[in-house]
Amino acid sequence: MGVAQVISSGSEGNAVIYDNQIMVDCGVSLKALEAVKRSLKIVLLTHKHGDHLKLRTLQRLQAERPTLRVACGDFLLEELPCIKNIDVLQVGMLYDYGAFKVSPVKLYHDMPNFGWRIFLNPTIIDFIKGNYEYKIFHATDTVHLEGITAKGYDLYAIEHNYCEEYIQQAIEEARANGEYTHAYGNINTHLSIQQARAFIEENRKESSEVLELHKSRSFYH
Ligand SMILES: [Zn+2]
Ligand SMILES: [Zn+2]
Repeated sequence: MGVAQVISSGSEGNAVIYDNQIMVDCGVSLKALEAVKRSLKIVLLTHKHGDHLKLRTLQRLQAERPTLRVACGDFLLEELPCIKNIDVLQVGMLYDYGAFKVSPVKLYHDMPNFGWRIFLNPTIIDFIKGNYEYKIFHATDTVHLEGITAKGYDLYAIEHNYCEEYIQQAIEEARANGEYTHAYGNINTHLSIQQARAFIEENRKESSEVLELHKSRSFYH
């Protein structure tokens, strides 16, 4: 996956870099971004859960890179004290940053959350080679993707949080033993492997690539 670089994905922390310049989420330490931080142009935020947004990292990153832009929904503004260069973006609108365009997508989590459509503009060399825009659909932490389409994208970076059969088994076992299980939380706020695959099959073209994000250690095998 040349264009995508996963620094971390899942409940331990999230940060994915596209084309060396766009980072989705900032839920890791600054140290984890050491190799990439100099080329970043923008951070696209999704939601305020700690595995996606570490304010201290973002503050320190921006102290080192004062021109770095941060894009998010209005619901995140109050979570970003001391952060500069914030672009508050609206669902369904397309924003042109020159080398790339982005458009936020409304997702369905236990709090307001954005997915991102990212369109990398071709360089002149790309254009001569016959390569046009490179389209990325990025979505994690959503209970479903109903009503959303992303036809013919080049890369689907989508949450594959849990296996439906496996989690059902875990729930039945916990019930039989009278124990609590985190499975309910996953089912109500995250996307299953089966949902992710159905969405990708609905939308993909032959050459599309897939990046499986935000896998649960407990309910994915
Ligand atoms: Zn998460
Ligand atoms: Zn979350």
